[in-house]
Amino acid sequence: MEKAFLIYPENCIGCRACQVACKQWNQLPAEVTANYGTYENPPKLSFITYTKIKYTEKKNSSGIQWLFLKEQCLHCREATCMLVCPVPEAIIRTKEGAVVLNRDKCIGCKHCVNACPFHIPQFDPVTGKVSKCHFCHTRIAEGMEPACSQICPTGAIKFGDRDALLRQAKNAGYQSIYGEKECRGLNVMYAIKVAPKQYGLPEDPHVPKAALFGWLRICKPLLGLGSGIAIIAAILDFFNRKNNSKEKTTTD
Ligand code: SF4
Ligand code: SF4
Ligand code: SF4
Repeated sequence: MEKAFLIYPENCIGCRACQVACKQWNQLPAEVTANYGTYENPPKLSFITYTKIKYTEKKNSSGIQWLFLKEQCLHCREATCMLVCPVPEAIIRTKEGAVVLNRDKCIGCKHCVNACPFHIPQFDPVTGKVSKCHFCHTRIAEGMEPACSQICPTGAIKFGDRDALLRQAKNAGYQSIYGEKECRGLNVMYAIKVAPKQYGLPEDPHVPKAALFGWLRICKPLLGLGSGIAIIAAILDFFNRKNNSKEKTTTD
């Protein structure tokens, strides 16, 4: 059964317990940061920060309103990080829908970094490796839920079967769920009633074409004819389907 997160940013209080739980479970050190005039900390994802809460401040009639967004890998159903990775099994998808990067196999080529529509994978120049959220796939495989959703005190991070989560959100009045259809479906979705860009989410996430074709130009000489043709076909198919879905959205 495909698993997913459905995050309700309106229920998030910005406590960052999810950030801490992720660090603890993954034994990641804290970041050294400087105060830059906001409670948001750290300022961005990094090799040692797989998830963080983005704070957006908005002025309204009663003063300042904070919008909180949990940032992390969105575990795309059609993950371009997987598509462009030249190393077999360096990035895999589990049967539950987690997109998992194996740091031992990563060669630090950064193609996944450049191809991700959400700018998630993080390169570490010291180790020459890339890292990102792995959806706590080892916990899921043991019947547990991810560390971040388990700790959340407000229930802002719902974890469970993707279809059931979508049904619950729609029954609760969220007709448009970010991630239900974006990039042909994400396994981390957001139930929001305002425009996604108000939370800093891209309205039309897409893969930079230059990233895909740059990768192809570099790797083509290394590929056998058969695998080369298969990869070119996969890339063309990817863009065809993306264009088709755009046309469909336009005509809907
Ligand atoms: S959000 Fe980026 S890193 Fe995560 S699965 Fe999608 S393409 Fe890969
Ligand atoms: S799913 Fe696991 S690795 Fe990903 S953000 Fe949550 S705690 Fe961190
Ligand atoms: S633990 Fe829950 S309420 Fe706290 S910051 Fe994370 S998502 Fe928001």
